[in-house]
Amino acid sequence: VLNTEIIRVGSSPPPAKYGGRHTVTLIPGDGIGPELLSHVREVFRFSCVPVDFEVVNVNSALETEDDINNAITAIRRNGVALKGNIETKHTMPSSVKSRNNLLRTSLDLYANVMHCQSLPGVQTRHKNIDIMIIRENTEGEYSSLEHESVSGVVESLKIITRSNSLRIAEYAFQLAREKGRRRVTAVHKANIMKLGDGLFLQCCREVASGYPDITFDSMIVDNTTMQLVSKPHQFDVMVMPNLYGNVVSNVCAGLVGGPGLVPGANYGRDYAVFETATRNTGKSIAGRNIANPTAMLLASCMMLDHLKLYDYATVIRNAVLTTMNETRLHTADLGGQGTTSDVVQSIMKIIQSKGQLTADF
Ligand code: ATP
Repeated sequence: VLNTEIIRVGSSPPPAKYGGRHTVTLIPGDGIGPELLSHVREVFRFSCVPVDFEVVNVNSALETEDDINNAITAIRRNGVALKGNIETKHTMPSSVKSRNNLLRTSLDLYANVMHCQSLPGVQTRHKNIDIMIIRENTEGEYSSLEHESVSGVVESLKIITRSNSLRIAEYAFQLAREKGRRRVTAVHKANIMKLGDGLFLQCCREVASGYPDITFDSMIVDNTTMQLVSKPHQFDVMVMPNLYGNVVSNVCAGLVGGPGLVPGANYGRDYAVFETATRNTGKSIAGRNIANPTAMLLASCMMLDHLKLYDYATVIRNAVLTTMNETRLHTADLGGQGTTSDVVQSIMKIIQSKGQLTADF
């Protein structure tokens, strides 16, 4: 059985409430987010998962931050969230910050984790890919610090700090050790950004010296993307600053079949937020029952693992992966004609065939 579970390092889940149930914040987001999350709820209900959702809508058309602040407060209360991506229009004033980014920085969700694995039944150029990407999630190019003090000259600040670089490197090495991985590669552009990326690389080196059992190496980001598309099997665990993480995780998602397949997680010391790895809104395919529900369902399984509801996670994950084998159910992104609800129905049928979940758990 393909194991997509990712061990958390550092944060611990909130305790279950009365009756063993958990409350999780659910942010539908834009585009295909609402429909994908309604399918997650359908599968959870069907599987009798002991999770209640507190739905918080964030209206991305508003310029005020009230909605996102409500969502952040709800996550502080519940500790865990599952979300669709919230659209950030670049036509909005520069003072309007990305809601997704605000959420991650406010909750200090410093580690973005994506496990990129080849999935059964999905035809791709490279087979048997198994790469873990650890992306610094709170600083770097995502500082939202830009100014045009002199007309025609924009300065956009990229922030690299020693403490956050050490923290993400430590996370990557700990995860590598827990998962029995052998190698960590730091991705950088220290030949150009000698101070910023140089500091990131230096911090990775320092942390690596405490993990003699794990091989450490580094690669410049441009070469990394080329190596990934030509010889992806050389990579094991990768750690990198924020923007490179964004690019590299999209390349990796493409390698295993696209944005509809790969789940992602954001972990901090106190909170955890789960979403699809490539954080798309998919607004051009919204409301048409053609989006691939796999990535969001696998993200919900990562969330169940975080809540230590391992048995539910395993049953749902296995049903999702078994359904991937059914080529006739593949959605358009995989070259098929299956609908989102065809896939979800098949998943629920498989769950049902495994017996009554409530009786066992
Ligand atoms: P645009 O960026 O052109 O306005 P979009 O909002 O749909 O369109 P993204 O959200 O950036 O684009 O998504 C990138 C691509 O990935 C799109 O072609 C989208 O249809 C596709 N995509 C994203 N998620 C899924 C999914 N779950 N299933 C199938 N395709 C998906």
